[in-house]
Amino acid sequence: MATIFSKIIAKEIPAAIVYQDDQVTAFKDISPLAPVHILIVPNIEIASVNDVEVEHEKMLGHLFSVAKLVAKEQGIAESGYRLIVNNGGDAGQEVFHLHVHLLGGRKLGPVLARKD
Ligand code: 5GP
Repeated sequence: MATIFSKIIAKEIPAAIVYQDDQVTAFKDISPLAPVHILIVPNIEIASVNDVEVEHEKMLGHLFSVAKLVAKEQGIAESGYRLIVNNGGDAGQEVFHLHVHLLGGRKLGPVLARKD
């Protein structure tokens, strides 16, 4: 069954797509946590980092080049930004279609809140 992100990539459901090519798609998160919150996703369905194979390496490298490009287009290349990939339950992964969160536009605070 197609993931919600595959339906966005295929333009079957709406999303604010900011970049798309034959390998990856970038669109605004529906529930943004920062002034800039964009998801960058492979066009093919890879459920999570656990499912990455050697054949995906070139495309995933390209995905980082797209992250750089989108950060520049969004005006946060110089102010700074964070890339996050959640994997599995403890990380809170909700959508099992590998994606990189691109967050910026404000001070983002520590990577992880301390438990104590
Ligand atoms: P995860 O927790 O899996 O790393 O992140 C999934 C992200 O996808 C969340 O930040 C959530 O807001 C976003 N999201 C879920 N459904 C949709 C949708 O239908 N459209 C868009 N644009 N973002 C979505």
